[in-house]
Amino acid sequence: MFESLDAFRAHCGEPTMPLEQCPICSAIPERSYGDRSEAPAAGFEQLRNIGEDELRQCPTCRRVYLYVETHYGNDIYTGNDSRWQLERHAVDVVWGLEWGVTRRLPARDVTRVSEAFFPNHALVRLGTNAWFALDTSNRLVTLDTSGAIDKLIDADPPHDVSGDLETAKRYAVQLAAIAPSNDERLDYFEYLRFVEGEWTPEQRQTIEAARAATGLVPMTNPVGWLDMRPSAERSGTDVRVRLWVRRGKSLVRRDVTVRPDGHLVRDDVVIASDLPLR
Ligand SMILES: [Zn+2]
Repeated sequence: MFESLDAFRAHCGEPTMPLEQCPICSAIPERSYGDRSEAPAAGFEQLRNIGEDELRQCPTCRRVYLYVETHYGNDIYTGNDSRWQLERHAVDVVWGLEWGVTRRLPARDVTRVSEAFFPNHALVRLGTNAWFALDTSNRLVTLDTSGAIDKLIDADPPHDVSGDLETAKRYAVQLAAIAPSNDERLDYFEYLRFVEGEWTPEQRQTIEAARAATGLVPMTNPVGWLDMRPSAERSGTDVRVRLWVRRGKSLVRRDVTVRPDGHLVRDDVVIASDLPLR
């Protein structure tokens, strides 16, 4: 059932009636979770397992659910504690979630699956740092150059990624994580790994100058820190996302313009270089 999206769709089928009309599904929340002491909503017991233990289906309307139990603790059989999560999803969504992707690529070391930005591709990390686009027939295309990423955007234009600021931010951050480089995105200035031990007066001065050059106002909590988390603002139909990255011994301010077609325009400015970094 995991060979292709068509096969998976055929396996799961489609809802046969509106949600409100199904007596089972209308009683189950779209998303619910709990621990051992709480049971899922009434109606859960009637869902059927359809080939995979965690993949459940309503016998009345064919809607699908993922029911995932997580055991943790020291007892190797049952764990000392457990939690469950029950989510109703469209078939295509299940297909693109990490749950689906790990089953579509059983022989691969899937370590991360991005939010579903593209209609016909999942962005998948294999091993420690190699990103791929996985199509609906489970073919992998490596995303090892920015040209490869541009090609993907042209071939399978992403869903509306500039419609709201939060989506644009997550999209820019995700693509920055894929872009092949040694750049390391920073959330706080304080996350820069400076040399250990007592700083020389010159080192201290370099660091203070870099802090000042960011133009950022120190935070009150944690006091004095510089907030470098992604920020976004609208610019016509585009969204401008600001990120901060470390590149070698330099601190770089990166403005990423997210265009409505999903393409990104990057503008890097080196704010400080030769920092005393490890
Ligand atoms: Zn139902």
